[in-house]
Amino acid sequence: MRTIRTVTAPMTVLILAGSSEATLLATELDGAGFDVISSFAGSTSSPRLRPGRTRSGGFGGADGLFGFLTVEHIDIVIDTTHPFAAQMPFHAAQACERAAIPLCRLTREGWHRTVGDRWVDVDDLADAARALQRLDARRVMLTTGRRVDAFDQCAGQWFLARSIEPLDVERANLVSLLDRGPFTVESERDVMVANRIDTVVTKNAGGSATAAKLVAARELDLTVVMVRRPPQPEGVTTASTVSAAIEWASSIQPSR
Ligand code: NAP
Repeated sequence: MRTIRTVTAPMTVLILAGSSEATLLATELDGAGFDVISSFAGSTSSPRLRPGRTRSGGFGGADGLFGFLTVEHIDIVIDTTHPFAAQMPFHAAQACERAAIPLCRLTREGWHRTVGDRWVDVDDLADAARALQRLDARRVMLTTGRRVDAFDQCAGQWFLARSIEPLDVERANLVSLLDRGPFTVESERDVMVANRIDTVVTKNAGGSATAAKLVAARELDLTVVMVRRPPQPEGVTTASTVSAAIEWASSIQPSR
């Protein structure tokens, strides 16, 4: 069973938010007596409310983050940015090393293929666009976020792009579907059948909230173009669950 230390002299924890785990993490750490600051990139128009203090907007690279850690007397940092956040984990690693502040990278486990899956692994969205041509895909469901410019040159495909935020472009062969998970297998199947989807493009974000599309695609025998996760900084402590991150935070001795 998990034990949460109730701290007497509150340690200040900076949560680099951006994934769905960040809200629960802030709530649990706040409840355990930590002084919590949640930081957002500012790219989502309405981040969910959570306990503790919040701030929004970039820090100005690793140097800016180092300055923030120093000025705000941050004791520990938990980087729970999205598994596909490509820069922030590196900035956090650099700034925390320089400031000698303990850092934990919280990322949920990625999805793994199972019997019946027809996955094509690709490195990034540009690679996904090339794969669509190669696979002769016709009707494609994009679940890779609001930025769809990587698919600009795909004239042979029709796209249904599902995103939380409005798309950044309009095109004749592109239909936007604004929706936020969690989704069910039934609702995913309905969307795929109604739109005669033959190929689904997704980032390997992991987690249960959006995994239903993979089950529906398997059942419908559709191809899934799966974008691999970007590289992560080496030598950083990692946790794959909120519980594990809280255990880690509770194990750190205050340095002040
Ligand atoms: P990124 O490449 O790692 O970040 C780009 C820049 O945004 C960073 O250099 C930093 O600016 C700022 N930033 C990112 N996370 C921040 C945070 N929590 N607090 C303050 N500044 C932050 O990430 P991205 O792919 O552009 O995504 C931006 C945000 O959306 C991230 O927080 C990420 O977790 C979230 N998100 C991303 C995806 C995705 O698929 N990429 C999906 C869902 C949510 P400075 O250099 O100025 O500090």
